[in-house]
Amino acid sequence: NLSGKLQKVFKHLRGQGKLTEENIQEALREVRLALLEADVHYKVARDFVKGIAERAVGREVMQSLTPGQQVIKIVNDALTDLMGGSAEPLRLAGKPPLAVMLVGLQGSGKTTTAGKLALRLSRDKRRPCLVPVDVYRPAAIDQLKTLAGQLGLPVYPSKTDQRPEDIAREALAFASREGCDTLLVDTAGRLHVDDELMAELERLKKILSPAEILLVADAMTGQDAVQVASSFNERLGVSGVVLTKLDGDARGGAALSIRAVTGCPIKFVGVGEKLDALEVFHPDRMSSRILGMGDVLTIVEKAQEAFDERQAAEMARKFKEDTFSLEDFRDQLRQIKKLGSLEQILEMLPGMGAMKELKKMQVDEKELVRTEAIINSMTRQERLNAEILNASRKRRIAAGSGTSVQEVNRLIKSYNEARRMMRQMMGGGVTRKKPKKRR
Ligand code: GDP
Ligand code: MG
Repeated sequence: NLSGKLQKVFKHLRGQGKLTEENIQEALREVRLALLEADVHYKVARDFVKGIAERAVGREVMQSLTPGQQVIKIVNDALTDLMGGSAEPLRLAGKPPLAVMLVGLQGSGKTTTAGKLALRLSRDKRRPCLVPVDVYRPAAIDQLKTLAGQLGLPVYPSKTDQRPEDIAREALAFASREGCDTLLVDTAGRLHVDDELMAELERLKKILSPAEILLVADAMTGQDAVQVASSFNERLGVSGVVLTKLDGDARGGAALSIRAVTGCPIKFVGVGEKLDALEVFHPDRMSSRILGMGDVLTIVEKAQEAFDERQAAEMARKFKEDTFSLEDFRDQLRQIKKLGSLEQILEMLPGMGAMKELKKMQVDEKELVRTEAIINSMTRQERLNAEILNASRKRRIAAGSGTSVQEVNRLIKSYNEARRMMRQMMGGGVTRKKPKKRR
């Protein structure tokens, strides 16, 4: 799936010390392939990758992030923008009763979504009623009646021999009588977009003057969902999209392309069959989910705050000149402590990403305290020049810090390891992007 693919790309990138024109290009190629495989429209994928390249090139790599993390952040921001930036709420301002039309193909989840929205609106202190307009299938009316019963909400008693237009007109009066401020209108669907259906929906739109026309689309159908959204939007005008069945193994492509292709915002996503399985669509969260980062982005942001750039630059210089002492090592550990949860953070920190040895030390908060204690028990001279640490000095330090000589040795080992790795990473001098190749 898309997240898996992108994660692989970024994992690879994370391991890189420097970001060159080549590995940006390579990563972006992979990103584009991953998007295409996730059924993202090829034009969307192409423009997206182009946009990223523009954002990435010429961007100073922030000292507190590795280049790989920087690219992840850029991709994440771009994905978020692609999906509309921020969450779009339902627009239900105006004189009640207001109608919300649910439209879409058969089986996309309209009826279920009507029930889910009814629940959400009642929790928001509105009083919705349900209106079945799908008179062609008696079962559809019963389905909505059952849902209304579960929710304890009124449902307009549509008959199978009623014309949809008459139902719409009467339902408006019904809503007023029942003291309802919102009508959730569950319309008929077809297996394919067809003219007859569109004409009926247009007539309903005229009668209801809906505050929202929500297209319900099945995320599992990928590119088709985008196509369907386009057709409905051209004919009816769609104010928002509800993307259902995102809990299944939908490839996610639809979520990415719909906004870009149709201009219609995704307002909600369906994540299950139950009535409470409807979530507000947050482009930023969706983006993180696609990238498989979860909390990682938050950590990136935390890291940005915690490390001021100058300090990081100073650290980089020390690594480069190989004057990174145990005291600096301690400073970095203190920074880590400030950041909280360690396991994930280690990889995010400048320099620390390479310190695999630290991970082997199984650093937890307690361990950190001990590590600091060990370094504190050293003389300043020892901290600045670890080479002088002989057996008797180590015994003294262990005793002074309440640890063991083995622990002291382990610390020195990981410090040396970190230094060695940093030397290698910094070996090529300051990171500079190569001049752009002509094509
Ligand atoms: P309609 O024909 O558009 O009214 O579609 P329905 O509301 O009857 O839904 C069709 C099927 O999809 C039903 O079995 C629903 O339970 C299921 N469904 C709807 N939304 C979701 C969702 O978000 N996740 C999952 N897993 N199933 C859903
Ligand atoms: Mg239905």
